[in-house]
Amino acid sequence: MSLPQFKLLRPRTVDEAVGYLAKYGDDVDAGVPSPFGSGQASPVQDGQRLRIIAGGTDLIPSLRQKLFEPEYVLDIRHIAELNGIREQGSGVEIGALTPLSAIERSELLRRRYPVLTEAASTVASPVIRNMGTIGGNICLDTRCLWYNQSLAWRKACGFCIKKEGDLCHVAPGGTKCWAVFSGDTPPALLCLNAEIEIAGPSGARRIALRDLYTGEGDNYRKLQPNELLTRIFLPEDSADHSGVYRKLRIRGSIDYPLAGVAVAIKRSNGHVADARVALTAVNPAPVLVKGATELLAGKTLTETLAEAVGDLAAKTAKPLTTSALTPEYRREMIRVFTKRALLATRD
Ligand SMILES: Cc1cc2nc3c(=O)[nH]c(=O)nc-3n(C[C@H](O)[C@H](O)[C@H](O)COP(=O)(O)OP(=O)(O)OC[C@H]3O[C@@H](n4cnc5c(N)ncnc54)[C@H](O)[C@@H]3O)c2cc1C
Ligand code: SF4
Repeated sequence: MSLPQFKLLRPRTVDEAVGYLAKYGDDVDAGVPSPFGSGQASPVQDGQRLRIIAGGTDLIPSLRQKLFEPEYVLDIRHIAELNGIREQGSGVEIGALTPLSAIERSELLRRRYPVLTEAASTVASPVIRNMGTIGGNICLDTRCLWYNQSLAWRKACGFCIKKEGDLCHVAPGGTKCWAVFSGDTPPALLCLNAEIEIAGPSGARRIALRDLYTGEGDNYRKLQPNELLTRIFLPEDSADHSGVYRKLRIRGSIDYPLAGVAVAIKRSNGHVADARVALTAVNPAPVLVKGATELLAGKTLTETLAEAVGDLAAKTAKPLTTSALTPEYRREMIRVFTKRALLATRD
């Protein structure tokens, strides 16, 4: 499968990148001239004239499958200021271009935010973790068996709501896309109450990571086409928690999660002082398990309590037939993994 034709833009600074985004990061209807010359029809069909590429481990396969056919690709890999892990006050700042392998190997993160290093170490394979960035993992497109396919395959099935069609093969009769968010680090970051910085033509803004996702399978993130994710902030409050990540996948050496549970927990005198549980790969967004913090607060972590939180997590999970393995099995594994992850934090 060949790549579509596009123009490559290579900024060296965030300001330069924002300049390109201001110029080309609007949607197709905005009337920006085609880079392929006047009179040429725009090849863009998904509304977005420009796509950002970081490590490219997800974007390149998507371009080959013609899921996106942008006129411009903004290659942000050479923006040095966005690569690195730094202590910032009593918390930590991570540049969006930091490779997952650097996160996996960071002694600082392993010591202070172990759930993140564990989640990063489970992404794909060592080669992909060397290329793939944390920003790309956070911004990862949602996935579905009916969507992550070649153009010929999707055409033969009549397309679907997420791209070029008007029906959902997973939930026929509905009008919503349920494609599933399948990144490994976002549930860990949600447990750590991470915040993110977003830069765009109107300046930089900082939001809680949990506010980035919409819960829709198609329009899955609240990022304008002319914005980029620049930094991730881990607060002091969630440092030094025990952390565990458990992931269900078919091949232990490489696959995306089919269900994932992250747990961060702090104890004081044998009782839970602070805890959060988050899920991935079972909803269109990574989600915190509502009520888990309250259920655990002030208690001793017993098997019965871990089971009760597992029940809550299983209710939060809404897996559908977007992925390999049945929804029933994936929901059950959320229950089991939540219990196991919580009990593993006692070790
Ligand atoms: C075989 C295979 C297995 C994989 N297994 C896993 C897995 O187990 N777990 C997992 O989580 N992922 C997996 N992935 C997906 C991917 O490798 C990772 O999610 C990786 O972290 C993506 O980062 P990247 O820098 O390569 O992103 P890219 O491919 O460059 O970008 C991904 C998306 O994010 C957007 N983007 C990237 N950076 C920014 C930014 N700074 N601001 C705004 N938008 C941005 C891009 O436009 C694109 O839409 C797998 C991929 C492959 C090919
Ligand atoms: S959930 Fe439905 S609309 Fe969304 S990608 Fe899958 S088949 Fe398409």
